[in-house]
Amino acid sequence: MSNSTPKHIAIAGAGLLGRLLAWQLLRANIRVTLFEAGSFNPTNQDIRAAAFTAAGMIAPLSEAVVSDVNVYRMGQFALKQWPQWLGQLQQPAPSLFFQNGSLVVAHPQDVSELEQFERELQFVIPECNTYHRVNQRQIQQLEPDLQPNFSQGLFLAEEGHLNNRELLAALMREIQALGGRLHEHMPVSVGPHTIVSEHSEEMFDLVIDCRGLGAKNQQPQLRGVRGETLHVETKEIHLQRPVRLMHPRYQLYIVPNPDNRFIIGATQIESEDRSPITLQSSLELGSALYTLSPAFAEARIFETETNLRPAYMDNLPRIKIETGLITANGLFRHGYLLAPAVVENVLSHIFTKPEKIFNEILHQ
Ligand SMILES: Cc1cc2nc3c(=O)[nH]c(=O)nc-3n(C[C@H](O)[C@H](O)[C@H](O)COP(=O)(O)OP(=O)(O)OC[C@H]3O[C@@H](n4cnc5c(N)ncnc54)[C@H](O)[C@@H]3O)c2cc1C
Repeated sequence: MSNSTPKHIAIAGAGLLGRLLAWQLLRANIRVTLFEAGSFNPTNQDIRAAAFTAAGMIAPLSEAVVSDVNVYRMGQFALKQWPQWLGQLQQPAPSLFFQNGSLVVAHPQDVSELEQFERELQFVIPECNTYHRVNQRQIQQLEPDLQPNFSQGLFLAEEGHLNNRELLAALMREIQALGGRLHEHMPVSVGPHTIVSEHSEEMFDLVIDCRGLGAKNQQPQLRGVRGETLHVETKEIHLQRPVRLMHPRYQLYIVPNPDNRFIIGATQIESEDRSPITLQSSLELGSALYTLSPAFAEARIFETETNLRPAYMDNLPRIKIETGLITANGLFRHGYLLAPAVVENVLSHIFTKPEKIFNEILHQ
């Protein structure tokens, strides 16, 4: 640590970026105070970080199709960085990272959607060689519990997923064990060196703003993009990896979690409405799920959730460095995919490391 490295850093927002940064800074022996508007262990009755609603997919190829090649490159970095980070956890935690690839399928009548997905993939990443087409037999070998009439698919071998809620809990345990100073139920506004809450104004060597959409009052260019998820539980189906279903009206994903649980999502709506999932969305998600395998009919829905993804106009992340204040935001639908690049970039600024990862992309 050089003499100019800040000794006491405040972080506003304990979602994905806030927890990761707090943890990494504490590991580097920096004093950290973390301010969170909600609870550090929120239930689904609370308004909580988008990080809790996310499905946890680390899907550089699938996401490149709806974004650009830089998202793919940062996603490839994430696939290496997550296992390294998870290896640094000191407290016991369940399995958090799985890298079994992902499978993209379409019903026979929608095969043109699958073909278009592949064309877009080749357009965005012409050099890509980490996926291959799979036929009916190979799909059944990969996921025997899917219904057997999927005749074509794509297997994206390098993709992975995180058990994200367990990860967020594990990060909080690490932060506590490393002596982070914690303030929950304390919404704050930020300025250079300054955190302002309802009751006080505190000064720090550096403030990092990780408030996601909560920063909108100070960054009006941020917008929220609504997403809805269904959480189901069934012992009838076992999936090894996330499966995406291509459909003319929506692209459904289903992500397996431990304990026979699955997260299903599809929606991306230009709205900042956080009200509960609509009947139409739940019917579409449920019926698409049923077409993946009729055995899902008996699955129990134990949670539905709605949240807003924090995004800038171009749907790409940004880091802004000012004296006494760093702002990191705009992770949109790629939070877990892009957080390693964003966090490592912020850390390299704080520790004035010569090489700044993805500097030219993250600081436009
Ligand atoms: C339905 C859905 C599915 C998703 N699926 C995936 C996926 O599969 N893979 C993927 O990579 N990404 C996914 N994402 C995206 C991912 O969740 C976000 O990109 C990521 O959570 C953004 O991280 P963040 O730390 O910037 O914000 P958040 O995780 O939203 O955290 C912000 C935190 O700041 C706190 N806060 C707000 N205002 C204040 C304030 N004034 N003072 C103090 N604290 C404050 C909030 O309470 C919150 O805890 C998904 C998102 C949604 C909604």
